[in-house]
Amino acid sequence: METIDQIYVDGAYVTPHGTELFDLHNPATGDMIGRVRLGDETDARAAIAAAKRAFPAFSQTSKADRIAMLRRMHDAVTARADALTEAVILEYGAPASRARWMAEYAASVLADAARTLEDYDFTRRIGSATVTMEPLGVVGIITPWNSNAGFICSKLAMVVASGSTCVIKPSEMSAMQTRIVLEALREAGLPAGAFNIVNGRGDTVGAEFSTHPDIAKVSFTGSTATGRAILKAASDTFKRVTLELGGKSPMLILDDADFAEAVPFALQAGYMNSGQACIAGTRILVPEARLAEFEAAIAAGVATIKSGDPRDPATAIGPMVSEKQWQRVQSYIRRGIEEGATLLAGGEGRPEGETGGWFVRPTIFTAVRNDMAIARDEIFGPVLSIIAYGSEEEAIAIANDTSYGLHAYVASADPARARKVAGRLVAGRVIINGAPMEPLAPFGGFKHSGIGRENGVFGLEAYLEPKAVMG
Ligand code: NAD
Repeated sequence: METIDQIYVDGAYVTPHGTELFDLHNPATGDMIGRVRLGDETDARAAIAAAKRAFPAFSQTSKADRIAMLRRMHDAVTARADALTEAVILEYGAPASRARWMAEYAASVLADAARTLEDYDFTRRIGSATVTMEPLGVVGIITPWNSNAGFICSKLAMVVASGSTCVIKPSEMSAMQTRIVLEALREAGLPAGAFNIVNGRGDTVGAEFSTHPDIAKVSFTGSTATGRAILKAASDTFKRVTLELGGKSPMLILDDADFAEAVPFALQAGYMNSGQACIAGTRILVPEARLAEFEAAIAAGVATIKSGDPRDPATAIGPMVSEKQWQRVQSYIRRGIEEGATLLAGGEGRPEGETGGWFVRPTIFTAVRNDMAIARDEIFGPVLSIIAYGSEEEAIAIANDTSYGLHAYVASADPARARKVAGRLVAGRVIINGAPMEPLAPFGGFKHSGIGRENGVFGLEAYLEPKAVMG
């Protein structure tokens, strides 16, 4: 059993003032695997003060210095890819291949930020003015459990690139990942106070970040409900905010789609990260004329998907992160049945043969209406809804009829037609026919999916404030 009982403030490991011990569980067995001692408001304030002291010098570092720091951070996180993969499997339950990807992603975002910074000019002329892009000050970073290491690194990367300093409150459920990332970041040798990490609860440490007058910006990834609370709390002190929140993303299967390709695309987009993905394509919109054909094809596809032991290389869906999350998924499956949707695959309970652990059955509902709760709420588990449509116009209307706007997917035999449809979708990102992600493209959502964008130059500018000097 691992006990994590230190936080990182002003360039040193320290014992927190907070004394609460939080249990860590292995979601694949339900067993307790460790404990983390949580910091409190006093710890948050000490960390903010350290970041504030570090800011004047850090903001004066050169672009070359910061590129070098990002490269060292990248190398140090890369060197711990094995340990990080293991922590992600043990503490979060991601299937092994996904866990490896997550560990590599945590490193690659640091290299991506270095690339963005290399090409970025902090000064430009606009008419008679010289405009400089200025760092903000102290940034508060708050991360979720479904991609804790990745979001610590991607947000910190932009803070360092911009010349700001920060305090980080990782998900309290991800302390093992945080410990490994912290070891790596420490080795990269940033100045004391440039980044500080306080394990703690959202309503204590997180709330302190959202209200403290010395925090200039909060960068948050998590649920829409928490994002709303942060936005309100941050308003008194006019903090800048970047909020990356939930989604209920549509997967538009156009009537010319080749189902041999569209079905694996829909299953991958729907079940990625065991369904615990903000960008999951959970509403599958299918033309009525081909509905029966699609249902047969996706039912056959889902039958080949293994949900179970994350260490088994054949596993595509690991356990839900916690019992609470498992119960949430079960309750939505019951709700779908009560609302009159038809179960095409999966259902309540654990997959056959799985007794311990928070495993769920890959589930697909059909005959879903877009006003049902299973089509409107973010379930955050492997539960997909098939919604039939008549015309392409209707498909676009259903796709956009959601309070979210994070992501969308389009499957079509005609890429030009798919791009035309993509142009009409209200979503921060659209993926056509399984195209790979572009790491430097902006990431973020419309409507209740958040405020602001991360990654690349749009992400960097979210940490900068323009200043115009004339004369
Ligand atoms: P959550 O909102 O419960 O928690 C996220 C973080 O916020 C945690 O660190 C938590 O401790 C902290 N927190 C909780 N209450 C707080 C408060 N009052 N003030 C400040 N901080 C507080 O979300 P979660 O359950 O950890 O993560 C799942 C959610 O994250 C899903 O809704 C998912 O869609 C979303 N998500 C979004 C993205 C994206 O980029 N858009 C990516 C991953 C996850």
